[in-house]
Amino acid sequence: MIIRKGLALMRNDTATGLICLCLLSSTLLAADGQSVTANPSPKAEAVKSVRLALPANASPVVNSIGGVFTRQVQQRCEAKVGRDGEAPLTVELAVVAGIGAEACRIEDGQGGGVRISGNDERGLLYGVGKFLRTSRYDKGGFTPGAWRGTSKPKCPVRAVYLATHFMNYYEAAPIEELHQYIEDLGLWGYNTILIHFPTWQFNGLADPAARKWLDRFKVVLSQAHKRGLQVGLLQVPGEGYKNAPREYLGMKVPGNFRGNFGVNLCVSKPESHAHLREIHDAILDEFKDVGLDYFCFWPYDEGGCACKDCWPWGGRGYLSISREMVPRIRSRFPASKIILSTWCFENEDDNNPDGEWDGLTTAVNEDKSWLDYIMADGHDDYFPKFLLDHGVPGRLGLLNFPEISMFGMNPWGGYGANPAPAHFEKLWGRIKHMGAGGAPYSEGVYEDLNKAIYAQFYWDPERKAEETVKEYAAFEFSPDWAADIGEVVRLFERNHNRSAIGSDAVKAFDLVARADAAMMPSARSAWRWRILYLRALIDKEFFERKGKREGETLKAAFEELTRIYHAENAHSMPIKPPQIR
Ligand SMILES: [Zn+2]
Repeated sequence: MIIRKGLALMRNDTATGLICLCLLSSTLLAADGQSVTANPSPKAEAVKSVRLALPANASPVVNSIGGVFTRQVQQRCEAKVGRDGEAPLTVELAVVAGIGAEACRIEDGQGGGVRISGNDERGLLYGVGKFLRTSRYDKGGFTPGAWRGTSKPKCPVRAVYLATHFMNYYEAAPIEELHQYIEDLGLWGYNTILIHFPTWQFNGLADPAARKWLDRFKVVLSQAHKRGLQVGLLQVPGEGYKNAPREYLGMKVPGNFRGNFGVNLCVSKPESHAHLREIHDAILDEFKDVGLDYFCFWPYDEGGCACKDCWPWGGRGYLSISREMVPRIRSRFPASKIILSTWCFENEDDNNPDGEWDGLTTAVNEDKSWLDYIMADGHDDYFPKFLLDHGVPGRLGLLNFPEISMFGMNPWGGYGANPAPAHFEKLWGRIKHMGAGGAPYSEGVYEDLNKAIYAQFYWDPERKAEETVKEYAAFEFSPDWAADIGEVVRLFERNHNRSAIGSDAVKAFDLVARADAAMMPSARSAWRWRILYLRALIDKEFFERKGKREGETLKAAFEELTRIYHAENAHSMPIKPPQIR
């Protein structure tokens, strides 16, 4: 799935291109329940040690959040975080219901300390994230952030979809590194990790390759749960295994955008239908010990049958098999929410040519009790016109599926970080008034900054992408360089198209080189800085060498990116950075 989306782009590599509410008297309350502090705390001093105070009855998740705080501070500066003894600064963590689902509050604590509370465990995680991002790590210790207030997320579904194929980062990274990366995503406001069990790659559940995949990703999802995040599966209800009986195959669907890995099965033939039911039940049983908070149905890229009984797929066969699966999902995971993706419902040339939206509208008008959300998006910049014109069928919550990984660069991430704040602000702007969240499509860590931008859109739909870039830069690199890095990111976006890198690539590199020379060693050597630095270096080299991939500098840069992505054994294209021999 979704794999096809990538392959289509490989062939056609066109460039596309906590806010706050506080009970303190100094805070201005806004009508929507969010507000901004008027008077931040007085400027704090750097400290060499921090006492972290957890509630007496701290749950395993709250303990884990304490661990995230400790790791983050200690890996960024020399200050030590302890849970006992005396320290010049106390940071108190608490869970206190009453400020809204997943909301957080940061306020002055006793004795000049800081108190971070969450309405619930995830709210606490987000409060810790905001506090960490507004603190400093470069004045000989840890300088606590001055931001005070309460903040509540607007969109309930703040998921990220991690693609797990081609030996990409999610398949290849050491598992502890992946657990930490998922923790980091939680700090930015994400609340759900979605993955896909790719049946098309395996000959059934007993296939050793399938077992290997399940052994890894069941642990990854269980660990995400232990860190307070929700997890879900995204599956294609008409997709068979690699060895699916040929007589069950469906009829090819029209167009070239919807994908087909050769195991799209018909859901109307009784034998094929029974076969799929068996497959789905066994997959759901595999995840019983993990527990699923979401299940997302996916229509195409694999999936789809154009036979007379299934077509129009999105308005008929797809709906009937998805709906039939829901009681079996809910019997195993009673609290799970159901998302119906409509990806590629339209053929991207025309508005609802096949009547898929009409079929879906009729179906949910009759009964929508089996669904919680509709997810919609298309290839590249496309968003279904039907939804913009008519709204969401059944007035269900709308989730998007933004493509933050593959747009306009091949190999994906092959040139370092690929931030595109203006691009994403434009795409989000089309639907921010009607969105209940979404799940960016991710192939790796090189789009980490794009993930942060979307996490913050979902938290506060009006947040400017540029503000998130500056907050990211201040946290990951240094507040002193946040404005310069904001400018660098603007230049990166202007030079996104590999065949049109301008002379400002030299300016971007100069800014990055200046920051590099002044930055703390911990920030300078971190992978987030290296992928940004290498992007600037590669762009400058490309400009000066008129696009030629040659020379020791580029060779070393691509090799370092390969190591950072753990892409040594990746599918040569499109995951692995270019190699110069
Ligand atoms: Zn069929």
